[in-house]
Amino acid sequence: MKIICVGLNYELHIEDLGWKKPEMPVVFLKPDSSILPKKNPFVIPPFSDSVEYEIEVLVKINKVGKCINERFAHKYYDEIGLGIDFCARDLQLKLKDEGHPWEISKGFDGSAVIGEQFFPKEQFSDIQNINFRLEKNGEIVQSGNTSDMLVGIDRLIEHVSKYYTLKKGDIIFTGTPAGIGPVAKGDVLQGYLEEDKLIDIKVR
Ligand code: ZN
Repeated sequence: MKIICVGLNYELHIEDLGWKKPEMPVVFLKPDSSILPKKNPFVIPPFSDSVEYEIEVLVKINKVGKCINERFAHKYYDEIGLGIDFCARDLQLKLKDEGHPWEISKGFDGSAVIGEQFFPKEQFSDIQNINFRLEKNGEIVQSGNTSDMLVGIDRLIEHVSKYYTLKKGDIIFTGTPAGIGPVAKGDVLQGYLEEDKLIDIKVR
């Protein structure tokens, strides 16, 4: 399976970063080795002094597809989940400044947190109106709604499937809302999709 991530898909997040709004969201991959094993803490890697959390809604692909039209995209996923895309921000900015790909800052071991459970999409009356949030040490640090995506899920699928064949089991990280911030040893991160707690991890 592969993890396809979308960056810069929420306006206020782009303002947080101070980056330019792209025509279409940025697309990048994380390797399967980036998935944080269940029940494991997130360990801050030695090569970064500035790891940041990004809470994101996840979409799980349920069949093979390539060059999928937006109109038919809903047939290619049936489950919605929640995840954290960890980013070694200092490394990312350094590589970006140097004009290099910044993949390692996003794809390192443990950088992809996948929530405990996925829910059938039918459970949501409108997948472009789902609330989600991240709490750090009991305080809300990010609070988003999928209605604020610059590019919605179906059009994201059309976009990414131009480049990558989607396969059953692939997961799409759909971008983070405002409020990204650093993690420190001892932090506890808890993520909620509507009122369901799907993420509960410690930082070491
Ligand atoms: Zn992200």
